[in-house]
Amino acid sequence: MKSPDDNFTAPTIAALWQNNFDDLPFEAVIKQDVLRQGLSFTANALTSADYKKKDYFIFTFDRAPLTEIPEHKRVPEEIRIFTDSEVQGIHPLAPTVISVRLNPRSPYLVDANEKGELHLLLAGEIIAKVIYPPIPKYYHEEYSFDKPIGEVAPAIEWGYLIYLTVFRNCQYFGKDEECQFCDMNHNWRQQKKQGRPYTGVKDPAHVVEALEKIAATDETAKAFTITGGSVTGKLGGKDEVEFYLQYVRALSDKLKKRFISKMVIQAWEKDDCKKAIDAGVQIYHPNYEVWEPELFRKFCPGKERFIGRENWIRRIVESAEVFGAMNVIPNFVGGVEMAEGSGFTDVDKAVLSTSEGLEYFMSRGIVPRFTTWCPEPYTVLAESAPPPLEYYLKLLRNYRAIHKKYALPVPPGYGEAGVGKAVFSVSAFMDVL
Ligand code: SF4
Repeated sequence: MKSPDDNFTAPTIAALWQNNFDDLPFEAVIKQDVLRQGLSFTANALTSADYKKKDYFIFTFDRAPLTEIPEHKRVPEEIRIFTDSEVQGIHPLAPTVISVRLNPRSPYLVDANEKGELHLLLAGEIIAKVIYPPIPKYYHEEYSFDKPIGEVAPAIEWGYLIYLTVFRNCQYFGKDEECQFCDMNHNWRQQKKQGRPYTGVKDPAHVVEALEKIAATDETAKAFTITGGSVTGKLGGKDEVEFYLQYVRALSDKLKKRFISKMVIQAWEKDDCKKAIDAGVQIYHPNYEVWEPELFRKFCPGKERFIGRENWIRRIVESAEVFGAMNVIPNFVGGVEMAEGSGFTDVDKAVLSTSEGLEYFMSRGIVPRFTTWCPEPYTVLAESAPPPLEYYLKLLRNYRAIHKKYALPVPPGYGEAGVGKAVFSVSAFMDVL
């Protein structure tokens, strides 16, 4: 696990922002740096029982193996940081939600004082107050299944999104097929070793029961995502389309109206997208991961072999005719194009390449989103340091500019956009719109 070369202190990150990036909100700067570097918690910061814990809903999103971070069973899913008259930090911060990615070597630390008040420190200096996400009411309900509810239907994004990873492995298996940044199969093995139930394939009836209970008890949850690994052969006798659509088809019309339904899956042909629409899927995420053609081939060998980059891109564009362009939101793994040893070494060239992809999709009315690459242990790219903070800030700037150039709407299914309001926790793209 490598640290980035540009480790900041409170004064140096403030200077970077003031001198070069003060057109971006300071909240986005801190959020991207915490996501890029991860954070750790003192024992005092984890004494309360009254917060929603990290459910490891798809990947680990950690920078160290679980065996090296025993606190992983007690840390919160996310933190919300802010300043006020008591804690002014280095600059005022509106409430900002950030996903928890554990890294014992990060300069970011959450600690509690003698009154139990939580603070975020950067290199030893307090920069913000911290609160943890509340436990959704439905976590306390009774269910017919013998599994924790956080295993069946975990809540993320401060309770806004129910994340249904219905297949917790990927049939792109091993280093010659798995996406080189993805720890889904490694995560499954790690969670099993740590004693979590971590069911490989979720029962559609459990998903329906959970969503019914959420609909009856919870007002914060507005959307659900159905996702999982790729199915290249059969799973439970079904191909990929039939396997994933069975979960949506199992829902009543009432549930489909209650939630925004999203699906993160491979790029499907138009006829299969039509089946998804008929089943009740509203928002489609066929993730293209990395724009640069050679890096796509190298970092996504399974996808390249089974579908191919050109087909993938064509299918994304064609899917807009079925879902409507604004409902097609392909993700890319922001920063992976700077992975050491394979990717760009120059920040501007990396940002330029990814901005070409943004331009390509946004000029067609399709608004991609990005997550912040986390070099997770056991993945092929694990030995790389994360990209410089400057990369993320330049990317955010271009993302916002291209989005504005085409007068595009805020992507649906993410809640409110803007500083102090955004709940999307794994990049700052919603904070800057
Ligand atoms: S397709 Fe790639 S990113 Fe998706 S689960 Fe499989 S290996 Fe991971």
